[in-house]
Amino acid sequence: MNLVVGVLALQGAFAAHAECVASLGVSVLEVRTPEQLEDVDALVMPGGESSTMSQLLLSSGLFDAIAQRIAKGMPTFGTCAGMILLASEVLDGRPDQRSFGAIDISVRRNAFGRQIDSFETAIDTPFGEFHGVFIRAPRIERTGSAVEVIGRLGDEPVLVRQGNVLAASFHPELAGDARLHEYFVTTMTTARKV
Ligand code: GLN
Repeated sequence: MNLVVGVLALQGAFAAHAECVASLGVSVLEVRTPEQLEDVDALVMPGGESSTMSQLLLSSGLFDAIAQRIAKGMPTFGTCAGMILLASEVLDGRPDQRSFGAIDISVRRNAFGRQIDSFETAIDTPFGEFHGVFIRAPRIERTGSAVEVIGRLGDEPVLVRQGNVLAASFHPELAGDARLHEYFVTTMTTARKV
């Protein structure tokens, strides 16, 4: 498979994502410019600080370029801050913070359950139990009808998908377990060039 998976590398936990993707034998490219985006078939948006990433996306010219690719069907996986960037509604965001509106969810920053700091716990997914690392995680407060809930922590959705967009409120790249990246790469890309 000649798939190239990009990892948005403006800020945040991109290196661990790149390692996870590489561990699957898939080519990885760190993406910092619109030109680099042209060379990838799919994109991972890491955790970090969504308001900072929003600013850097705008100043680098990547915001519009990524929005266009997502609209054309590029498989995209956002984790934590990356999920916030993909959401249609961001609650408790900075006033100037932008998001792609690529998945119909409302997320509240830094507000997962009653725990606003970090915690680790088991979450239920179709691949079995997954070790969820939550770091000042966003909480999904609403999912639209087109959104499929793939993973839950108790009753709460923490892993969601809408078409070509996958989003997790936790950090799968820090769990030493590439099953979710494998799901993204195998199920969502289906080896198509978009
Ligand atoms: N709280 C961060 C934000 O709002 C997300 C935290 C994370 O990515 N670990 O962007």
